Amino acid sequence: MSGLTVGVDVGGTKIAAGVVDEAGKLIASTRRETPATDTHLVLEAIADAVRELNSHHQVDAVGIGAAGFVDAGRAKVLFAPNLAWRDEDLKAELTSQLGVPVVVENDANAVAWAESRFGAGRDHDDLVAITIGTGIGGGLISSGRLLRGGYGVAAEIGHITMVPYGRRCGCGLQGCWEQYGSGRALVTEAREIARHSPAFASGLLAMAGGGPGGHHRRDGDGLRPAG
Ligand SMILES: [Zn+2]
Repeated sequence: MSGLTVGVDVGGTKIAAGVVDEAGKLIASTRRETPATDTHLVLEAIADAVRELNSHHQVDAVGIGAAGFVDAGRAKVLFAPNLAWRDEDLKAELTSQLGVPVVVENDANAVAWAESRFGAGRDHDDLVAITIGTGIGGGLISSGRLLRGGYGVAAEIGHITMVPYGRRCGCGLQGCWEQYGSGRALVTEAREIARHSPAFASGLLAMAGGGPGGHHRRDGDGLRPAG
């Protein structure tokens, strides 16, 4: 046993993987683009990133943080609003490909657990973690334990209804918080302003190439056109 593990963050735009020691210290890292529309290619990209790290550091186990609804058994991604996964058994697929134990967790739950063990929540028994990226994720620690709920999706606070009958969400509901407060929501908001008040948004329009459908992407900010 080396005491080293790999943590993989699977988001809508990128896959980031890192080797960490038992104190939570990052030793090495790598990344891949997320081939978001092809579930098989996403698995390949995850396995490839882990193999790259494992070739330099012998690791004991792999933890996957996925931007989706993960089941209570920490094996399957039931649904991912920003990825093509539907009932995907990541644990089984990756365990057979990598030959080490694999645990799958919701990415924001993983953030909450990390903050609780090594970060801002170290001296506290209860905390809420909110992750704002392409979407909005949440993780809850209560009395020192990760609160997963009966179906594993207790802390999906990005999909709480904030605006009744509001914007459609990738989860199937309307008016979710994620549609108003995420990176993707900023793009939607900017487009609406550009469409309805072009004079007011002249600076934005110039950066987007003249039309509200365009986008100006700064590398690494995780923003993509909303389609
Ligand atoms: Zn939603």
